[in-house]
Amino acid sequence: FKVPAVDNEPMRSYAPGSAERKALEAALAQMEKELPFEVPCVVNGKPVKTGKLAKQPIPSDHARHLCSYHEADQATVAAAIDGALAAKTQWEALPWNDRAAIFLKAADLVSGKYRYKLMAATMLGQGKNAWQAEIDAAAELSDFFRFGVKYVEELYSQQPVKNAPGAWNRVEYRALEGFVLAVSPFNFTAIGGNLPGTPALVGNTVVWKPSPAATYANYIVFQILTEAGIPPGVIQFVPGPPAEVVGQAISHPDFAALHFTGSTYPRIVGETGGKNFHLVHSSAEIKNAVMQSVRGAFEYQGQKCSALSRLYVSSSVWNAGFKEQLVAEVAKLKVGPAQDFTNFIGPVIGRPAFDKITGYIKKAKEAGGEILVGGSAHSFLTKDPKSITMVDEIFGPVLTVYVYEDNDFEKTLDLIDTSTTYALTGSIFAQDRQALLRATNRLRNAAGNVYYNEKCTGAVVGQQPFGGARASGTNDKAGSIAIFYRFVSARSIKENF
Ligand code: GLU
Repeated sequence: FKVPAVDNEPMRSYAPGSAERKALEAALAQMEKELPFEVPCVVNGKPVKTGKLAKQPIPSDHARHLCSYHEADQATVAAAIDGALAAKTQWEALPWNDRAAIFLKAADLVSGKYRYKLMAATMLGQGKNAWQAEIDAAAELSDFFRFGVKYVEELYSQQPVKNAPGAWNRVEYRALEGFVLAVSPFNFTAIGGNLPGTPALVGNTVVWKPSPAATYANYIVFQILTEAGIPPGVIQFVPGPPAEVVGQAISHPDFAALHFTGSTYPRIVGETGGKNFHLVHSSAEIKNAVMQSVRGAFEYQGQKCSALSRLYVSSSVWNAGFKEQLVAEVAKLKVGPAQDFTNFIGPVIGRPAFDKITGYIKKAKEAGGEILVGGSAHSFLTKDPKSITMVDEIFGPVLTVYVYEDNDFEKTLDLIDTSTTYALTGSIFAQDRQALLRATNRLRNAAGNVYYNEKCTGAVVGQQPFGGARASGTNDKAGSIAIFYRFVSARSIKENF
């Protein structure tokens, strides 16, 4: 068989009065009526209720919670690992087309039957507005599954180009020996599906620990995979206290690989964080650079690994209206619960995040940062390009601007490259192509995803393979064929006739 051709899921508009807007509003109303939900662990296809309940609060209203979930205890994690190891032989032996069919069906369930439910859970539980939830829970998640199938098909067709007469050479791409642990973050429901999905597509079985702050949306993803036909034990759903679950799993003798997105870990297969830049050259088109910077820094409250947080602007551009436009655009951003369609800025994910972010704002003020715009979307001007908010990852709606003299362009490139150890995304704004090339060359190790004249967020599956090196992760490129090589172990066979 050949798997069908795939394409990116088309984005819907959610304009007032549109059919999709009504459907999403209905899904939100329904969820509001039924919450809080109860979420079990699921091991070998069976719900496990440990009775150790934890809550996923609604970030715009801490008095309510979206779900209570049963935290996996030691016995549950042990059973999940044993079950995953036991399920592996059959799963890997399944004809590739049968594995592919499950993920193609899951993609259709995500973009069809469950689209609005999954978006509603992402909006209520993770504080994403409708358009950010659409990019993530509807489009990117179904893209990950559909393109994943296409990439694995390509991977399996990578065979030796030569055979001598009397022998046949071939390569098998086998799943890893042992089980894979997937640890997913709160900020993208799509990543929740991709972290267990990618290793499972190539025949691995996976123990999946979702983020406590995204439990309910991730549980819906798990239910979708189950409805699509993933056999019991292939993906085990084990929400629980991160340190305990991860600690127990990685010290197991059959632990094969870790697939995660989150804070810094030793190098495995991970995406860890960013301190992403926009560089605005003196030849830049001002309005576009301003609008892209506002979106890059403040969409989803800056809670993307890829979010813009350090903005380097040429002084001639700054003085030619960039400053006023930036201040006006940031001040305009409407703040409030994400499920209200008129709000651009929703809540940050939880109290610890809020405290961390406000702590940085305080430190930046103490260090003499000039506030351009205060409030929920914070923007600073700094004279010190290595001040704390130009260097540390904040993971919130805080943007720091450094204005450089036009003839210090080269020095600014050095600064961008050496100020932080992260290297995830970055954008260069210039109409002068020589400046784009100069910056691209000098910053060759400073970002895994580079954009010209566009914001540094929003990589699309199948279009811009995503990931960074240095402290940002292992740069294995989600949304491309490259990442699948990390979850197989190749074996060459030469058979003589
Ligand atoms: N892939 C997303 C983007 O390009 C970011 C993913 C993340 O925050 O982990 O915006």
